[in-house]
Amino acid sequence: MTDKGLIVSLSGPSGVGKGTVLAGVREKLPDSGTSVSVTTRKPREGEAEGVSYFFRTKEEFLKLIDEGEILEYDTYVDNYYGTPATPLKKMSSEGVDVLLDLTIAGSLALKEKFEQAVTIFILPPSYEALRTRLVGRGTETEDVIEKRLAEAQSEIVRANEFDYVVVNDDLEDAIHKVLSIIEAEKCRYEHNNGIEKKTSWT
Ligand code: 5GP
Repeated sequence: MTDKGLIVSLSGPSGVGKGTVLAGVREKLPDSGTSVSVTTRKPREGEAEGVSYFFRTKEEFLKLIDEGEILEYDTYVDNYYGTPATPLKKMSSEGVDVLLDLTIAGSLALKEKFEQAVTIFILPPSYEALRTRLVGRGTETEDVIEKRLAEAQSEIVRANEFDYVVVNDDLEDAIHKVLSIIEAEKCRYEHNNGIEKKTSWT
């Protein structure tokens, strides 16, 4: 356990600003690792293959599951999303802290699989704030926004299944809180097993 990197997974409703919070956290932790997910969703404007996601057909996605290449996966608004197994395992076993943005089921699945997983639920300050952000983002049609808002209602009640909750009212404050959680987790005794014996007293 000592030298494994943390697997820090953020979840929360679409439009809550998980991506922006994560980007801010990554800026402060330049040595952290990124897991690029596989999805059957079509690329949005500006999204690059292998950077934002690996974009695959449903058939290709199902084949990856069959081959054991997907660590966890979920369906979200008519598409599949999954975490590739090899890169995540490799980074964490090399001591690299990996930051992820997953659905609730995805974060909880990682928590089941890895003792070094830390789950954080990002809450919106209000339902209206969420709607305003989703509309303002302008990346989805009205129909998809309605589906994402409906999904959000059923997601928020699951915040209690997570290790931590952070309300994204103020971006800088939310980033600071996530960084503090990571720092505290790294100080847990089980991540520093036997450290007191390695400390030089003479
Ligand atoms: P988007 O379509 O906005 O990029 O992502 C939709 C949702 O899929 C987000 O809530 C994001 O957290 C989730 N997601 C992205 N990649 C993965 C993944 O590999 N596994 C799971 N379980 N969820 C993912």
